[in-house]
Amino acid sequence: MGRRRKKIIKLPKKRVPTVFLCPSCGKEAIKVEIDRKSNTATVKCGSCGLTREVKIKSIYGEVDAYCMFIDSYYVSSEAPADESGEREG
Ligand SMILES: [Zn+2]
Repeated sequence: MGRRRKKIIKLPKKRVPTVFLCPSCGKEAIKVEIDRKSNTATVKCGSCGLTREVKIKSIYGEVDAYCMFIDSYYVSSEAPADESGEREG
């Protein structure tokens, strides 16, 4: 009698809108989108339009990506970063 009980656990995949506080405008409008293919997280503020990409590890979640974003935000706000690429040679 090798009866096996099949247990199906249904996990409802709820999309919880994870919104974080924006360091630029101070509003809770930061959204984190994780691209698992390139291990990149796109952090975007829906209020002031601040957008930044951070490299993450595959195990990282939205919160971790947000922390990295905060780190890089304050680091780059100290040093003048020129991201436009247009520079005189
Ligand atoms: Zn903002």
